[in-house]
Amino acid sequence: MDTEQKYWNPVAETLSRETIRALQFKKFKRLFRWGYEHSRFHRSLYDQAGIQPDDIRSWEDVHRVPKVEKSMMRDIQRKDPFPYGDALCVPLEEVTEFRQTSGTTGQPVYQPDTWQDWEWWAECWSYILWAQGYRPRDRVFLPFGYNVFVAFWAAHYAAEKLGCEVVPGGVLDTQARILKIQELRATAMMATPTYVLGMADTARKMGLDPETMTIEKITCAGEPGASIPTTKRRMEDAWGAKVYDHAGATEIGAWCYECTAQAGGLHVNEAFFLVEIEDIDTGRIIEEPGKRGKMIISALDRQAQPCIRFDSKDVIEWAEAPCPCGRTFRLIKGGVQGRADDITKVKGVLLSPGAIEEVVRGTTGLGDEFEVIVDKVGDIDRITLKVELIPEYRGRRQEIEPRLKDQLRLKTNLGYVLEFHETGALPRYEVKAKRFKDLRKAH
Ligand SMILES: [Zn+2]
Repeated sequence: MDTEQKYWNPVAETLSRETIRALQFKKFKRLFRWGYEHSRFHRSLYDQAGIQPDDIRSWEDVHRVPKVEKSMMRDIQRKDPFPYGDALCVPLEEVTEFRQTSGTTGQPVYQPDTWQDWEWWAECWSYILWAQGYRPRDRVFLPFGYNVFVAFWAAHYAAEKLGCEVVPGGVLDTQARILKIQELRATAMMATPTYVLGMADTARKMGLDPETMTIEKITCAGEPGASIPTTKRRMEDAWGAKVYDHAGATEIGAWCYECTAQAGGLHVNEAFFLVEIEDIDTGRIIEEPGKRGKMIISALDRQAQPCIRFDSKDVIEWAEAPCPCGRTFRLIKGGVQGRADDITKVKGVLLSPGAIEEVVRGTTGLGDEFEVIVDKVGDIDRITLKVELIPEYRGRRQEIEPRLKDQLRLKTNLGYVLEFHETGALPRYEVKAKRFKDLRKAH
């Protein structure tokens, strides 16, 4: 392989828009037929809606294929064959991989993959890593728990496929992981934004300066932080490295990636995925840039438990301009902006946790952790924002408070009750942070 080539797949990543759309349409028809013919769940869903494989003749037909919700997947798995249920499209003996969702929004969903699916996972990740500058000379350190969650498992195999040297940092604790990075002079790593910042903190406590360590690039997933400019900057400054975002999910696959152009968005891998953006209020499919909606996604080549018009609840929007890197895959602006169920109305205003994160992480004197609690006092919504003062700013709350209030008002159009805490007072998270709590639903 030519290690200087710009794209992992120079053909797929530079196809004309017409060709990409034609390819997606052809693949969607094939996927729909696959699900209809091999899964009892999909066949009955589509029969009830009166839509069959030969009925898919236009994009309009694609848009009216029934969506699959996460809650349906949980019900499916109470059926045979154990443990996956009747959306399974292959004989059980062809399943080679078991993963499950983290269950942050309820009962976990089991995810089977065949060996072919697993190779597809690694291929999807190869696009991501190559676009982020990973090359065979890289030594990649993976500081995550290798267990039932997919996390960076496929990234591990993709990095090997590229020819990188891969160091699994599985059961080590944070300190041991940092020492291993130092010992081996690792050049790249992958983690959630929360953990990237937490590792930098730990390194400093150990008397090491993460900025002078050898990490050159960091790939993030699991939380939107790497697409929030101020959080990205904090990570890049802490490690003296480039930080790139990516989004993926157990039930979907690794569907999008930031490239080295860092154009403020993520490329959808349109060779393997069909992304539709649906207006949350009207259900209309949004083709134009600049309008937020929720993502309906299909994994066009995944077989064991297919992902056909999955209602991901991720809120995204198309970017205006194509990316300067030359890839023709469309960009989603600012990455995944939140989840449709997280972006709640407070005092009648749409509140996005990402906007609060951007303000907190852009305020000098504040630490990386924060917590947002929405509750009700009588009939009135109240938002409490808890932040931490870094040690150098202890006792200087008066200096920070007016600036923080102004920025929050400007970016979110809402007022907050502010609580200042000492460094270390708020909870730390190793996997997915739960910084946003809406207590109104509990009442
Ligand atoms: Zn690009």
